[in-house]
Amino acid sequence: MSRYTPPRDSAEWLRRDLAVLWHPCTQMREHPDTLPLVPIRRGRGAWLEGMDGTRYLDAVSSWWTNLFGHAEPRIAEAVAAQARELEHVIFAGFSHEPGLRLAESLLAVAPRQAGRPPLARVFYADNGSAAIEVALKMSFHSHRNRGDDQRTRFVALTNSYHGETLGALSMADIPLYRRTYAPLLLQPLFAPSPDAFAAEPGESAEACALRRADELQALFEAHPGQISALILEPLVQCAGGMRMHHPAYLRRARDICDAHGAHLIADEIAVGFGRTGTLFACEQAGIVPDFLCLSKGLTGGFLPLSAVLTTEHVYEAFLDDSRERAFLHSHSYSGNPLACAAALASLAIFDEDDVLARNRRTAARMAELAAPLAVHPQVADIRQTGMILAIETRAASGGDGTAVEIAGGMGLRAYRHAIARGVVLRPLGDVLYWMPPYCVGEDELRHLADVTTTALTEAFA
Ligand SMILES: *Cc1c(COP(=O)(O)O)cnc(C)c1O
Repeated sequence: MSRYTPPRDSAEWLRRDLAVLWHPCTQMREHPDTLPLVPIRRGRGAWLEGMDGTRYLDAVSSWWTNLFGHAEPRIAEAVAAQARELEHVIFAGFSHEPGLRLAESLLAVAPRQAGRPPLARVFYADNGSAAIEVALKMSFHSHRNRGDDQRTRFVALTNSYHGETLGALSMADIPLYRRTYAPLLLQPLFAPSPDAFAAEPGESAEACALRRADELQALFEAHPGQISALILEPLVQCAGGMRMHHPAYLRRARDICDAHGAHLIADEIAVGFGRTGTLFACEQAGIVPDFLCLSKGLTGGFLPLSAVLTTEHVYEAFLDDSRERAFLHSHSYSGNPLACAAALASLAIFDEDDVLARNRRTAARMAELAAPLAVHPQVADIRQTGMILAIETRAASGGDGTAVEIAGGMGLRAYRHAIARGVVLRPLGDVLYWMPPYCVGEDELRHLADVTTTALTEAFA
C-alpha cells in the first residue's frame, strides 16, 4: 500500500483529484477552468469548510440529504455507538435492533387515510434509485402473483425524476439524463405534470391540478388492465426545477389508481422528512400510497439508506410455498445497522427539537426574504412549499428548456458568483432555489438572500 500524503495546497489537490477521480453529474472537462472543484474538510451546522478554511453555506443541503446541519452531534454519536456494537450483518435470515426499531418507527409516523389500511411493511434498500427499482418490481410482481400478468406498463409524469439506475431512469422525463440511454429504457406512459407554473392564464393551481387529473384519468381509460402503477413525486418535482402542484391532484390520482386496480407509488425521496412542511408530502393530500419510497433525509444526511413502505395487501401477495413468488430482490447492505441508527437518531430529533414547528417559522422568514426579488426584472416566479423556495428566472435555459443542474449560461454564472461569496447554490436550468438544512438561522438566511440577489443581477449583466 502506498502511503497517503495530504496535498500541500489547492493546486496539488486539484491535480491529484483530477488524476484519479470521476465526479457524479459532471462533465469532467469543465474542471477546473469553467467549474471550480471545492475540497471540503469539515461541516458544521449549515456550513461547509474548505481545505483552505473558506466557509460555504450549504443552501442545497448537500443534494437534499442533510436535515439538521452537518456533523449533527446526536446522529454522529448514534452512528459511533452502533459501530462499536454491530456494523453490519446479512439481513436475509438475520435481524437486528436498529432495523426493527426503524421499521416500527417509520410505520408509526407514515401518512394515514381514513377508511384505508395503513402502510404496514418496510423493505430496506440502500439508495433512492434502488428504492424505486424495488417499488416498480414489487408492484408488477404482486399483480402477477395474484394471477394478473397483463400489467406491464407504468405511468409517470412529465418533468419527473426518480433516479439514475435503468428502471428509475426509465420513469424520468428529464431529456438530458434520459436521451442517451433511451434505447435501454422501459417505456412508461407519460401523463402531463400538474405543475402550477404551467397553468393557463388565470387558472388557479387547483384548477390546473384537476384538469391534469382528468388527462391522467383518460390515459388510464385508454389502457385498461395494462397499468401496474402510477409513480409520482408528491407536491414538488424537485430535479425537474422545483415545479410545485396542488394536493388536489394527489387525491384524484389516488382515486384513479383505485378505480383501475393500479398501485400508487409516492416517491418522497426528496420531499420526505419535513421538506414540504409536513413530515411527508402525502399528508397534505390526506392520502396513503401503496408504496412510499424514502431515502435522502432518512438518515439525516449521514449515510445511504432507503426504505420502501407498503401495505399488508401487497405483502400478502408474496406469501406462498414457492420461492418464485417471493420477492428475491436484495442488496448486500440492505438494512445496514449504522444507517438505521442514524435514521432513528434523526427521527428522534424531529420530536426533541419540535422541528416542524421551527420549520414553519423558518419557511415564513424565507418567504419574507425572497419577496423583494419578485420585482427583479429577471424573476418570472417565486414559489414555495415549506422549506423549498424556488426562484424561476426569465433566462432561456441552455438547450432543451428543461432543468439540468448548473447547465451553463445563467445557471453557471450564478453558481460561480455564489460559490465565490461562500454560498452553495446549484441552479436547476434557469431556476435558483433554497433548500437549506433546517438549522439555518436568521443571519444565514440574510446572507443567502443577499448573495442570491447579487447572483441574479450579475448572472444577467
Ligand atoms: C434523488 C432522487 C432519487 C434518487 O435517489 P438516489 O439516492 O440519488 O439514487 C429518486 N427520486 C427523487 C425524487 C430524487 O430526488
